[in-house]
Amino acid sequence: METIVIRYGEIGLKGKNRMVFENALIRDVKERLAHLEDITLNRFHGRMYVNHNEYDYEEVTEILTNTFGIVSISPVVKCEVSMDAMFETAKVQIEELLKSNPKFTFKVECRRSNKGFHLTSPEISKHVGGYINQTFKDELSVDVHHPDIVINIEVREKVYIYVKSLPGLGGMPYKTSGKGMLLLSGGIDSPVAGFLMAKRGVQLEAVHFHSYPFTSDRAKEKVMDLARTLTKYIGEIRVHSVNLLEIQKAINEHCPSAEMTILSRRFMMAIAERIAKRRKYKCLITGENIAQVASQTMEGLTVTNARVKLPVFRPLIAYDKVDIIKVAKKINTYETSILPFEDCCTVFLPDKVVIKPELEKIEASESLLEVEDLIYRAIKEREVVILRHDD
Ligand code: ATP
Ligand code: MG
Repeated sequence: METIVIRYGEIGLKGKNRMVFENALIRDVKERLAHLEDITLNRFHGRMYVNHNEYDYEEVTEILTNTFGIVSISPVVKCEVSMDAMFETAKVQIEELLKSNPKFTFKVECRRSNKGFHLTSPEISKHVGGYINQTFKDELSVDVHHPDIVINIEVREKVYIYVKSLPGLGGMPYKTSGKGMLLLSGGIDSPVAGFLMAKRGVQLEAVHFHSYPFTSDRAKEKVMDLARTLTKYIGEIRVHSVNLLEIQKAINEHCPSAEMTILSRRFMMAIAERIAKRRKYKCLITGENIAQVASQTMEGLTVTNARVKLPVFRPLIAYDKVDIIKVAKKINTYETSILPFEDCCTVFLPDKVVIKPELEKIEASESLLEVEDLIYRAIKEREVVILRHDD
C-alpha cells in the first residue's frame, strides 16, 4: 500500500473545537474516497494519512487537492528503520526534485515516535541534513528559516519520508460553518461566490431564476452545469429553479420600466429567503459586486438588501472582475459561464435603469403588485433537482 500524508493547517488551531473540525475532515475524506478499494485512513500527531493502492494515486491526489480544509498533501516513501535507508531514500527523492528545479534550499524535520530507535529526532535531522548537503554540494544549501523544501522524516514502525508537496485548496471542511442559500445565475460571479463560501465551510443549496419560455432550456442547463461543476468540491447540491416570468410580466405592466431590474432583484431575494427559511438555511449568498453594473450601486444594494431579514453574504463585493475571473478559471466554471445564453434579467430589460433607487419609491411601486400571491405561486411551481458529483 502507498501512503499520502495530509496537512490541514488552520483547522489544527481551533483549540477545543479542533476535534470537531478534524472529525469533519476525516468524514469528508472518507466519503469522497469511499468508491475506491482498500482505502484506510489514520490520524497521527495532528496529521492524517491515507493508505491506498498504487494505481489509485492519481485519483486520490485529485480528490484530496480538491477537498476543503486540506492545505497540502505529500506522497510518502517508506523505508526500513536505519540511517542508511534514510540516506538513500532522501537522496532518491531529492534527485527527483532536481529534475524540475536545478537549485534549492532545504531543511530536515524529523519526528521519532518509535523510541526503540537509538538516535533522537535532532540527531537524525542532523545526520540526514549533513549527508544530503554533502551529496548535493553544488545544488542544495541549508536554510532552516525559509527553506524551499522540507525533508520530512517520521520514524515509526517504518520510516516515512516525504519531500514533494502538492497544494490543496485550504479553507475549512465542508459543512462546518452553517448553511447558505446561493442565488446562482448563469454568470461568472455567482458560482465563484458560492465556491468561496463553501471553501469556508458553508453548506450550499442554490436558487436559480429563469423566465421560461422566454429563456431557453439551454440557459437553464447552463446553470445546472455550473452547479454540477461545484459538486466536484462539495459532493452534491440541491438546486431550486424558479420561474420569474409572471412576476416580470406583472412588474412590466404595473410599475415604471426603469425599476424593472431592482424590483425583480427584490423578488429574487424574497423568494430565496422564503426557500431558505423552509430549508433551515441561515443566510443568502450572492455574487454581487460594488459598482460592477447599474443595479449594484450602494443605493441599489441597500434597496435589495432591505427586502430580506436573513443576512446576505457577498464574498465578491470588493473583487475586481479580473480577480473573479481568475478564480472562475481555477475552479473550472469560467468556460461555462461565458456561454452566450440569455439570463432572465435580460428579458424585460428597460432602456433606462434607476441607478440610485430610493427605498420608499420602490416599496410604493411594489405595493401596486399582488406580491404575496406572486411569490407563493413562483415557489409552489419551482422545480427541484439534486446534483451529485458521481452522477
Ligand atoms: P453573475 O455573473 O453572477 O450573473 P452579474 O455580474 O451578472 O453576476 P447581476 O446579474 O447583477 O450580476 O446579479 C448579481 C447577483 O444576483 C448574481 O451574482 C446572483 O447572485 C444574483 N442573480 C442574478 N440573476 C440571477 C438569476 N437569474 N438567478 C439567481 N440569482 C441571480
Ligand atoms: Mg447575472
